[in-house]
Amino acid sequence: MTAIRFSNVGKRYPNGHDALVGLNFTLESGELAFLTGHSGAGKSTLLKLIMLMERPSRGGVWVGDRDLTKLPHKQIPFHRREIGVVFQNHQLLFDRSVFDNVALPLQISGYDPADAARRVRAALDKVGLLSREKLNPITLSSGEQQRVGIARAIVHKPKLLLADEPTGNLDPDLSEDIMHLFEQFNRIGTTVLIASHDLSLINRLRHRVLHLQGGRLVADGY
Ligand code: ADP
Ligand code: ADP
Repeated sequence: MTAIRFSNVGKRYPNGHDALVGLNFTLESGELAFLTGHSGAGKSTLLKLIMLMERPSRGGVWVGDRDLTKLPHKQIPFHRREIGVVFQNHQLLFDRSVFDNVALPLQISGYDPADAARRVRAALDKVGLLSREKLNPITLSSGEQQRVGIARAIVHKPKLLLADEPTGNLDPDLSEDIMHLFEQFNRIGTTVLIASHDLSLINRLRHRVLHLQGGRLVADGY
C-alpha cells in the first residue's frame, strides 16, 4: 500500500516564489525515508503539504488512499490526527509536566482518561523517559526534551510519522540516538519521513534519501 504519493506537485507561494516544482515520488507503507537538501530547498514545504498546512498550486498529493486536493476543509483536523509530527524545537509546553505534554493529543481527541494514561506511559516507556513523567520538561536535557516530543508524536499510534529537522539542536551522538528511535517505530510498521540537512548522519544510517534542490527532486535512492 502507498503511504504518500506526490504527482507533479508544484507549490508557488503568494509572493511568486516556486518552493516545489514538478515533484513526483511515492513512499510505501512501512518505509522510512530521509528528505534532504540545503536550507530553502523545499523540505518544510513538502511536509506542510502532507499535513495540509499548505495546499499545492498544481498536481496531486495522496496520503494513504486520501486525495488531499479533494479533502473538504472540515476534514483537515481528522487528517492531521492520523499523522505524528516532530519539530526541531519540539514545541513542548513548559507550564505542565512531561506526562501532560504527551497526553495533549489524546485529550484533544477525547480519549477516556484511564486509557490515555496507559498510552502516555507506554509512549514514555518506548522513548526511555517513564521515570521523568512528573517533571517539568524545562528541567530535562535537550535530547530528553526531543524524546518527549517524539513520545507526544506517537502516543496516538499514527500510521505516518513526519519529522522536520528533529536533530537540529543536538550533538552527533544524541542525534544518532534520536534517529534510532525513529527506526524503532518504523520496525513496528509506522511509515516515517524525516527532513534533515545532516548528510553525514543520514549517510551512516543507509535508508532511502529523497534529495531536494531548489524545489526539485534531484535524487532518490539509497
Ligand atoms: P527548507 O525546509 O528546505 O529549508 P522551505 O520549504 O522552508 O525549505 O522553503 C522553500 C523556499 O520557499 C524557500 O526559498 C523559502 O524562503 C520559501 N518559502 C517558504 N515559506 C514561504 C512563504 N510562506 N512565502 C513565501 N516563500 C516561502
Ligand atoms: P495499546 O495497548 O494502547 O495498543 P501498545 O503497547 O500497543 O498499547 O502501544 C503503546 C504505545 O506504543 C502507543 O501509545 C504508541 O506510543 C506506541 N506504539 C505502539 N505501536 C505503534 C505503532 N504502530 N506506531 C506508532 N506508535 C506505536
